[in-house]
Amino acid sequence: MGWACFLGLAGCGAPEMKLQKQYGEAMGTTLMLAYYAPAPQPALFDKAVALLDQLESELTIWGQLDAPTRAGKAPSAVEILNAAAGKEPVALPPDSTFVLRTALKYARLSQGALDPTIGPLVQAWGIATSHPSVPTGEVVTARRGLVDWTALEDRPEGFFLPRPGMMVDLGAIAKGYAADKLKTLLINEGFSSGIVDLGGNVFLVGAKTDGQPWRVGVQDPLEPRGTYLGVLPVKDKSLVTSGIYERYFEENGKTYHHILDPKTGYPANHELAGVTIVHNPSMEADALSTSVFVLGLKRGWELVRSQPEVEAIFVTRDRKIWITPGLVGSFELSGEYTLQTGEPL
Ligand code: AMP
Ligand code: MG
Repeated sequence: MGWACFLGLAGCGAPEMKLQKQYGEAMGTTLMLAYYAPAPQPALFDKAVALLDQLESELTIWGQLDAPTRAGKAPSAVEILNAAAGKEPVALPPDSTFVLRTALKYARLSQGALDPTIGPLVQAWGIATSHPSVPTGEVVTARRGLVDWTALEDRPEGFFLPRPGMMVDLGAIAKGYAADKLKTLLINEGFSSGIVDLGGNVFLVGAKTDGQPWRVGVQDPLEPRGTYLGVLPVKDKSLVTSGIYERYFEENGKTYHHILDPKTGYPANHELAGVTIVHNPSMEADALSTSVFVLGLKRGWELVRSQPEVEAIFVTRDRKIWITPGLVGSFELSGEYTLQTGEPL
C-alpha cells in the first residue's frame, strides 16, 4: 500500500466500479454485454459467447435456410426434427423443448399470427440468406400449405411434424430466450445490474448501481438499427422491437421485410412500421413483438392489453405512436412523431 492510501486520501479503498461494455458476434448477430466492474472480465464474455454458441447449435436452422454458407456443421436439434418430418417424432433437448412449447403457447394466443412452423415460407423467401427474393405465387401457395402449428404434435416420445416438408423455425423467439439466459448468467456470476443487447433484443438487468432506472433508447422502426425515436427509463425489463427496419430487400421497386403473415405467405403488410414490447422475460417479449407485428395495430393492441405486466409502443408507417397506459408519463418522445392519446380501436 502506498503512502497516499495510508493517509486515507482519495483513490484508495474499493476499486472504482465502471460500466464495462464488451462487444462481439454470436448466434448470427451482434452481442453487447455490460456490467459494473473495476475492469473488463474477458472470462465472463467468453462464457456468454459459449452459451450463445451452444444455443445456436441447438435452436437455429441456418443449415436448412442457408445451406451453402453453413455446410460442414453438425445439424442442430431443430434441424434433426425438421429432417424427420413425415417420418418419426424427435425428442428435443431441454432448451429447444422449452422454446418450442413457448412458441406454441403464443401461436395459440395470437391465433396463429406467430407460427413456429413458418420454416417452409422463410426458406422460400430466402429470408436468412444474403440473396432473398420473391417466390412465385405457386411456391407461396404450396409452402403456405405446409405451415400449420396445430398439426405439430407434442408427444411423450418427442415432437412430430406429420407432413414431409414441414419445418420448425424458432427465429422469432430464440434471441429473446438467449437474452434471458444471458441475464441469468450475469446474475449467477454475481452481477445484479447490467445490460444484455443481443441484436437489438435488449435486457436491462436490475437498476443502475445508484438505484436509478436505465435510460434506454427505443428503436425507430422507420430507420436503421440503433436510431431511436424516444427514451424509456426502466428497471429489470426487456425491450424487443419487431419491425420493417430489421431485415428487408427490394425487388422491382417494392420493399419486402422478414416477418411473414402465415395466412397469406407474404410479409405482414399493414399500417404498423414496428412495435416495441416492454416486458420481463425477454422470450415472451420477443414472441409478442412478432405476434403483434403480424396482427397489426388494432388486434395487436388487444393482444398486448390482454396480457398482464406487458407494455408496448406501436409505431405506424405514417409516424403515429400509441403507447400503453403503463408507459404514459415515463416514455420520452424525441423523434418526428405524433403521440396519440387513447386507444387505437
Ligand atoms: P422477430 O424479428 O423477432 O420478429 O422475428 C422474425 C423472424 O421470425 C424471421 O426472421 C423468421 O425467421 C421468423 N418469422 C417470420 N415470420 C414469422 C411468423 N409469422 N411466425 C413465427 N416466426 C416468424
Ligand atoms: Mg420476436
